[in-house]
Amino acid sequence: MKTKVFKSVLIVSFMILLVSCSESKKEPVWHEIYTKQGLEVVKADSANIKILLRYSTADNFLGKDVYGNLEDAYLQPEALSKLYKASELLSKSHPELKLLIWDAARPRRIQQVLWDKADIPLPERSQYVANPESGSIHNYGCAIDLTLADSAGNPLDMGTDYDDFSETAHIDNEEELVSKGVLTDLQVQNRAILRSVMTKAGFIPIRSEWWHFDAFSREETKARFKIVE
Ligand SMILES: [Zn+2]
Repeated sequence: MKTKVFKSVLIVSFMILLVSCSESKKEPVWHEIYTKQGLEVVKADSANIKILLRYSTADNFLGKDVYGNLEDAYLQPEALSKLYKASELLSKSHPELKLLIWDAARPRRIQQVLWDKADIPLPERSQYVANPESGSIHNYGCAIDLTLADSAGNPLDMGTDYDDFSETAHIDNEEELVSKGVLTDLQVQNRAILRSVMTKAGFIPIRSEWWHFDAFSREETKARFKIVE
């Protein structure tokens, strides 16, 4: 009998220890943080929108998961409408393809982690990772990083992976990169499909990253929306 009681006490103590450990590791409640600022979650049940937040995996330039339990993509409602428009345009022009979202809203606390850990010399760093002091348009929920995927969900070949900090990821010299053999015609065509649906839906591409699109200019974003800390 005594052994039984002792065993039960031991099991209960172990459970209390487990609960207190998981409590101390508790991660932010992302849904609350985002919705407080008016952001909405991207519905991935649409046939041609898939979400795989690369910062919520170890498959990113830091090689570690910086989002923890954040798996959903959030955007300002107007940016979200533009995304749904892009998905509609894609389903008409290329019904076999999907939009694969790698990142959307990103709190400033995570921007700080990316900035601190990026292995890029300071003078060039802000070209690839926005300085958290001024904030990235992602921090306002008005920017999105995405690619195209085939019907099985495999990303199309765009010539570089996500967060490639080289000139190969730039969009303003693709023809030259093809003539030098750095990019292929197919890779440039794939990028063009993505850019076409995104710009027709009202997004603005940026020079140095083929995967990044802003829903509004930096000025408009800052004037109209609040940063998500
Ligand atoms: Zn981006």
